[in-house]
Amino acid sequence: MSSNDNNSNAYSDFHLQFIGGEWQKGKDDSINTDTNPYNGDTIVEIQQATKDQLDEAYDAADQAQAKWAKTTPAERAAVMYKVVSILDQRQDEIVDWLIKESGSTRIKAMVELSSARAITLEAASFPNRVHGEIRPSNTPGKENFIYREPIGVVAVISPWNFPLHLTQRSIAPALALGNAVVLKPASDTPVTGGLLLAKVFEEAGLPKGLLNVVVGSGSEIGDAIVEHKAPSLVSFTGSTSVGQHIGELANGGEYIKQVALELGGNSPFVVLKDADIEQAVKAAAFGKFLHQGQICIAINRVIVEDEIYDDFVERFLAHVKTLNVGDPNKQDTAVGPIINEKQLKSLKDKIAKAQDEGAKMILSGEIEGQVVPPHIFTEVTREMDLSCNEVFGPLVGIIRAKDEDDALSIANDSMYGLSSAVFTADMQKGLRFARGIRAGMTHINDISVNDESNTPFGGEKNSGIGRFNGEWVLEEFTRTHWISMQNEPRQYPF
Ligand code: NAD
Repeated sequence: MSSNDNNSNAYSDFHLQFIGGEWQKGKDDSINTDTNPYNGDTIVEIQQATKDQLDEAYDAADQAQAKWAKTTPAERAAVMYKVVSILDQRQDEIVDWLIKESGSTRIKAMVELSSARAITLEAASFPNRVHGEIRPSNTPGKENFIYREPIGVVAVISPWNFPLHLTQRSIAPALALGNAVVLKPASDTPVTGGLLLAKVFEEAGLPKGLLNVVVGSGSEIGDAIVEHKAPSLVSFTGSTSVGQHIGELANGGEYIKQVALELGGNSPFVVLKDADIEQAVKAAAFGKFLHQGQICIAINRVIVEDEIYDDFVERFLAHVKTLNVGDPNKQDTAVGPIINEKQLKSLKDKIAKAQDEGAKMILSGEIEGQVVPPHIFTEVTREMDLSCNEVFGPLVGIIRAKDEDDALSIANDSMYGLSSAVFTADMQKGLRFARGIRAGMTHINDISVNDESNTPFGGEKNSGIGRFNGEWVLEEFTRTHWISMQNEPRQYPF
């Protein structure tokens, strides 16, 4: 029994949609069965939304936004501060939901909640930080004003792996900056990725219609949410293949709109020969196995310089063997369940393929239910499937690099460019190496899994376009409007 089952104040009614500030039943014939990935229990059954309900959500957002944009910065900031305080008060309830719905371990659930809290706090500063500019003009008597305005209605589509945070990092800045939101959470996490946050914002006093959560099947509302006339921006976080499709829909249809795409990754974790090997081993284990490796910025390729390869492998193997695997609700569990059967199958296929391709499996274990114990492969080459593609699971390949240049060449040999990491005792070398990596983020002597609410988060190449957090997301969720004022009659040539 989870701790909030006895809490009479706990949120309920998660079988409903949240549209126009009202909790209402979905009108589609299909049901989304939300299950616990560890034990298979049904948590909630949600009758899904129809296209008409999506239209209703967009109408409500459109109407509410105009009034919201005219509120004072203080009013919008106050809602964000209230949300922060509710996240604090309801910490146990939210952590329980993250464990039972997304298979988060306790450690990961706390990491996720604190990230969601941090971006909400950052968003509370946005209403007062947003500002325009006055620019000189080459036309006599003219003044140039550059206004920064809300973008309008924002469509948010989020994934299941860090559902609470990856939803909140779009909706909190969007709302704080005077926009309205229509959100489609992932089917595996409709509560932590949407409905629970709707409850929090409702309790915080967000006016009706500004945040709408529609839970629906991809085939009924997936494309429609992007193609709809109402949103001026689609903020999508998910796989590269779906992101490519969303980009095409957003720019190739009747209504052109901006897109912010936060997509897949293939983070290299490089250990150079002068590194503190013990520290690198611990970092590699945490950065690889947190949330079972189901993180876009998780370590995907461990690249180790030849001279220390065998030593690193031996110590890494010994450390990973000590990790507790199983029930995510237990305090000391490091590796919990995989989100669903489809992902589980893809991991089983990857294990078989790695062996077929000649990688040496030095650690494996029995797969029980949806729990996959850590698998370690050595003598992995850059051409193998484990290196070329995003793993999204607790499997790791260790690649041998001849020297520093070879390590950099392997690190950059990817169509992705999200996060990355390098371990070395020489900070100047670390900085030089980091600057040589084509990625949105590189961490020296730390893991690739880092996210801070005031630093730019995003990727290069097939990892997406746009940046979250700080002033970067502030720009993303506002539009620029140049207004000039001609203060004296202008002389025209004819
Ligand atoms: P996914 O692309 O399958 O789904 C993401 C979201 O898109 C879900 O809500 C899904 O229902 C929705 N969707 C699917 N088809 C759609 C369509 N045609 N139209 C509109 N919406 C549609 O991704 P996932 O499996 O939920 O998440 C894992 C992937 O997300 C991984 O590749 C991971 O790297 C990536 N990811 C990236 C970041 C980042 O910040 N760059 C963060 C987390 C996850």
